[in-house]
Amino acid sequence: MTSLEVPERIKSGHSPKALELKSASKTAYKPAHQTATRRLRKSYTIRLWAVRHARFLEWFYGRFANIFLLLHPLWNAVGYQRAEAPVKFVEKQVKGVLFDCRMCGQCVLSSTGMSCPMNCPKQLRNGPCGGVRANGNCEVEPDMPCVWVQAWNGSQNMRNHDAILKVQRPVDNSLRETSSWLRVTAETAVERESAGEAK
Ligand code: SF4
Repeated sequence: MTSLEVPERIKSGHSPKALELKSASKTAYKPAHQTATRRLRKSYTIRLWAVRHARFLEWFYGRFANIFLLLHPLWNAVGYQRAEAPVKFVEKQVKGVLFDCRMCGQCVLSSTGMSCPMNCPKQLRNGPCGGVRANGNCEVEPDMPCVWVQAWNGSQNMRNHDAILKVQRPVDNSLRETSSWLRVTAETAVERESAGEAK
């Protein structure tokens, strides 16, 4: 665009939303004024269930992670890289249903009250933006409960409720679509082995 060209929305004086609706009306398909998030409300129901049961899920994940760690010799024998595809498939299905997981590969659910921060439209990893609505919903997706309000609620139910105060590193996009379960297992195994060697 040259400096003399003026964007269509400024020329017309319409907001981006109004322009979107205007162009949508030119097609045969009309989505009944539903936002994408309203169509996905079913997944909010499960997400909110996960937050309400954060303490149980924290306990369950602790047991599950221990079993995964016990299987470290097996993962080593098979090869972590070869195990990745089937484990990732299961992880994606299970966490997709429960948390609407986006497979960022660096899971922080244990620190965020079982509310996945990757569902925040701004993908904030360290708390909410300044736009949370008075009803606790998101400013970008008005139908969606703010994932960080939910994260705080869920974390207060958890045994390790201070974990939410830990500052998270920015998302490493090179880890997308990889298995957090295997990565955490491999890292914990290395930590254990080096702690054993140090004694
Ligand atoms: S933090 Fe990442 S791995 Fe964990 S549920 Fe969210 S997208 Fe999935």
